Amino acid sequence: MSMLRPIEEKFAIENEHWVGNGFRVRNYFPGGKNLLQRFSPFALMDYNVPKEFTPSTSSRGIGPHPHRGIETVTFAFQGAVEHHDNAGNHGIIYPGDVQWMTAGGAIMHKEYHEKEFLNRGGVFHMIQLWVNLPKKDKFVPGRYQDLPNSKLGKMELPDEGGDVTVVSGEFKGVKGPAMTYSPMNIYMMVVKGGNSVTFEEPGDYNTGILMTEGQADINGTACAHKDFILFENREGEITLKAGEEGVKLIVFSGEPLNEPAVAGGPFVMNTKEELDQAFQDYRDGKFGTEDF
Ligand code: MN
Repeated sequence: MSMLRPIEEKFAIENEHWVGNGFRVRNYFPGGKNLLQRFSPFALMDYNVPKEFTPSTSSRGIGPHPHRGIETVTFAFQGAVEHHDNAGNHGIIYPGDVQWMTAGGAIMHKEYHEKEFLNRGGVFHMIQLWVNLPKKDKFVPGRYQDLPNSKLGKMELPDEGGDVTVVSGEFKGVKGPAMTYSPMNIYMMVVKGGNSVTFEEPGDYNTGILMTEGQADINGTACAHKDFILFENREGEITLKAGEEGVKLIVFSGEPLNEPAVAGGPFVMNTKEELDQAFQDYRDGKFGTEDF
């Protein structure tokens, strides 16, 4: 019998704050827990737990702001998110879709509720993840990957027990379409009530799970919606048995960058000097103008 991969820590964040006036998020890291090195290459995770928005005609979201040194990855579960950036990209994502924006050296973007959803109102449920860029790629040109659900990798679990949707890297040989600057496996999993799935990630990859709906037993630990489960860096199986109501979750697993990282505001760089320079460049208008 194979070893189980031990759970290092399980936690949930309760504090919420507004990002602009459209995103009501729980910052799991680095605010909740400082995992900048421990969970590299993943630098930040904001979880907008399901929240009802009333119909509105005035825009909800966050206006033009800069990023450097990272990629911002948005996963929509309910509601719809619209994006514009000053590299000329525009996209809208709906439930099940993902958008992957590479800030590289300098980008400005704005993110808000898509207009029809804004007008109609309803439940909004999403995650924004920041992926840190390797030192050698901190200044790559901006890029936007529109990853609609239909283009993501798909695997059905045996006995109609659920399915896995692969965003990047792979799951049991099924590949995800996202292009990344360092190796990482990101996939969303739906496991129906009472069904089980067992999988493994490389022992040296930083590996965690965010529960986005329902309950499950994971390697013998009871886990529920909003829990984040961080695994020890050891080889071993992850065995997940869905509770009666079933479970939805997302797995983040990546090779650590093993480089110094300093985060501040919308930037993640390798040194304090580079971070100061990012703020200075923004003040100097080097990220471009806000009229996009
Ligand atoms: Mn942003």
